[in-house]
Amino acid sequence: MKLTTKIFIGLFGGIVVGLFLQNNPDIANTFIKPFGVLFLNLIKMLIVPLVFSSLIVGAASIGDIKTLGRIGGKTLAYYLFTTAFAVTIGIILSKVINPGLGLSMPVNINTIAAKDAPPIIDILLNIIPKNPLRGMVEGNMLQIITFALFLGIGTTSLPEDKSKPFISFFDSLAEIMYKITGLIMALAPIGVFGLITPVVASNGMAVLLPLLKVIGAVYIGCLIQTLFVYCVTVKVFAKYSPIKFLKGILPAATMAFSTTSSSGTLPVSIRCIENNIGVSNKIASFVLPLGATINMGGTALYQGVCAMFVAQIYGVDLTISQMTTIVLTSTLGAIGTAGIPGGGLIMLSVVLASVGLPLEGITLIAGIDRILDMARTSINVVGDLAASTVIAATENELKDVKTIQVNMIH
Ligand code: ASP
Repeated sequence: MKLTTKIFIGLFGGIVVGLFLQNNPDIANTFIKPFGVLFLNLIKMLIVPLVFSSLIVGAASIGDIKTLGRIGGKTLAYYLFTTAFAVTIGIILSKVINPGLGLSMPVNINTIAAKDAPPIIDILLNIIPKNPLRGMVEGNMLQIITFALFLGIGTTSLPEDKSKPFISFFDSLAEIMYKITGLIMALAPIGVFGLITPVVASNGMAVLLPLLKVIGAVYIGCLIQTLFVYCVTVKVFAKYSPIKFLKGILPAATMAFSTTSSSGTLPVSIRCIENNIGVSNKIASFVLPLGATINMGGTALYQGVCAMFVAQIYGVDLTISQMTTIVLTSTLGAIGTAGIPGGGLIMLSVVLASVGLPLEGITLIAGIDRILDMARTSINVVGDLAASTVIAATENELKDVKTIQVNMIH
């Protein structure tokens, strides 16, 4: 049986068993969740060395600063444009679906303090690490990326005899990380089962029903973003079949759905995009680690929906300029959102604060956040993969892949 099929069995098995255990979520949390946590930890173990080494090699192999600037510019433009589009979809959908109608917010409940989320300016200033080693130890992905990019740029301006040993070392490190990913992926069906079962068991229908419209808006929005933004750009700019694209990236999207972590999905995304879509290692190792950290179309869409939802339950009528502020804050905030489970929920307080909406609204959403996180993380990852395909095509770095290697272990 193919690995993707097995992962799907793990996913659906987890949903079925989770529904079955709805009245006893403790059983799922005690006996099944540890398998998911174990799998997640194995994947997380690879993230820092993988992002660091693959970005150094990616930036160095692009060759010269001019090309690096061009590819970096295209990547950023794609990410920012599609993210802004995603928030707008979220806002429009909420205007149509009105998820907050009929709900009113209970008062006097604990709130997530605004101090949990740093101001946007701090996020932007902190991109430069004062101490890169500390950034690495703390797993601060933005700082790791910045330092790796500087190292990559530095190596391109050295003579080859000086830069080669350095690049070879990190090239070899990245290859080792890909290899280990392949081994760990054999455990993915069990890991996915272990991650999904407790989520379904603890989020029974009673929790979900009152907020079904929010869930619906986020899921429909994610579908629209995938089909009308990511698939269309893949078709138009890369002349690549959207069906083939979706089929090829399915393992990464499933991983994102069950782990709710873009960073955690990165090793699988890199393998999918190279083996199944045909994007060169040079582009994949530059665009994907960057995307896993700064590109969050799904998260931005979710923030658009949630901001409108909070406005509706408090009876606040947002003006056009406030909605524009939401688009801007969500798009910039996405850069600072960590690609980890629940990262977007923290950033939501920045978005709400930017237009003066009560932060208490977050507590309602927090109850169903995991369900929303599964959808938005998948879309974040699909966006990264679409960007790689589009940029690879425009750089002539997209080769023809005849067969999709669904079994990703080699
Ligand atoms: N979990 C998301 C991700 O890793 C971030 C978020 O919470 O929105 O992409």
